[in-house]
Amino acid sequence: MPPIINKDKCIGCMNCVTICPMDVYGKQEKDAKTPVIHYPDECWHCNACVVECPAKALSIRVPLPAMMVFVDAPKKKDAQQ
Ligand code: SF4
Ligand code: SF4
Repeated sequence: MPPIINKDKCIGCMNCVTICPMDVYGKQEKDAKTPVIHYPDECWHCNACVVECPAKALSIRVPLPAMMVFVDAPKKKDAQQ
């Protein structure tokens, strides 16, 4: 399942595009503010884009079978602070 971008919160920093190891986000349309999800099926729910989004504009939906091994990094990070 692909990440969900809250376009109202997105500030267009493109951190998610840079950090995604699977290139889920592709090149942007000229002058587009928010990233475009080009390869939604390639997301492996690593959470890296969610952690690196400074505007908290990203969320991912983890498929039920993947929940067995999923670590919610942002929540874990908050709990450690
Ligand atoms: S969760 Fe990981 S694989 Fe999926 S879009 Fe974000 S950085 Fe890419
Ligand atoms: S990291 Fe967050 S704020 Fe930056 S472009 Fe991606 S969704 Fe938008």
